[in-house]
Amino acid sequence: MKSILDLSWNDIDSLPKDKTLLFMTVAPIEEHGTHLPIGVDIQLGEYWQQKAIKELETEYPDYHFLSIPFLPLAAGCMKGFPGCMYIKPKLLRKIMFEIFKNIQTWGIKYLLIIASHGDPFHNMAIEKACDQINKLFAINFISPMGAFFSYKELNIDLQLGTEAEEILQKYPEDFHAGWIETSMILDISPEKVSENYINAENVVVSEKEMINPRKYMEKTKGKGHLGYPKYSKAQLGQKLNESTKTYIVNVAKKIIEKTNTKKYQHHFLFKIPFLRWFI
Ligand SMILES: [Zn+2]
Repeated sequence: MKSILDLSWNDIDSLPKDKTLLFMTVAPIEEHGTHLPIGVDIQLGEYWQQKAIKELETEYPDYHFLSIPFLPLAAGCMKGFPGCMYIKPKLLRKIMFEIFKNIQTWGIKYLLIIASHGDPFHNMAIEKACDQINKLFAINFISPMGAFFSYKELNIDLQLGTEAEEILQKYPEDFHAGWIETSMILDISPEKVSENYINAENVVVSEKEMINPRKYMEKTKGKGHLGYPKYSKAQLGQKLNESTKTYIVNVAKKIIEKTNTKKYQHHFLFKIPFLRWFI
């Protein structure tokens, strides 16, 4: 895996652009309960990226897989906690479009964004910026995490395995810093997880209540998580990290093989015109 920071301008100039895929993580600095650090989304995005590139490098040795530094930019709404840094979805879309315009002038044709943050507006804003730039040039800039978070609605099989599927069924409303994210960090950097996750109270919020920040912010007051951290397990996290990496690898393969990536371009809510107005 090579960082674009280690290349000179003429290295970039002489890259075989048809065989170059650039990766970028775009995720927030955001509170994640009292048991996880504020960098969770960025750390996970960077981890999946690194693992995906490693696998792709073995499979496509004549390809160039490059990474560009992560952007700690995001739309989100866990309000009232220190350590959160958000911008408005429309501004995020505009910034991403400007960044894409720059990258496009380098001759880069393929860019895979890892928007490792579940907020639909975060994902949709980046997806819209991708649509806008792809419409102007013969390139494929894609942000497939919105489709990943919509795997049920879009009928995408993440091959999560029986244990994860069972817990997902039992505790599905694990929106933020719950068993999903805590398990994933327990797998990759257990030293970053504070032991108090075992005693964290469940914060149960329905899918419907998630539409209303005032409602769920009231429930998580003084805590910062939405879900069930106490059911976290490193082993589960390993499975979830593996599935996520495989999903990213599969999308990358579609870009490389030049097969249709349409299914992976949008969060399922993107089709609702009223919601697109906010991005
Ligand atoms: Zn998160």
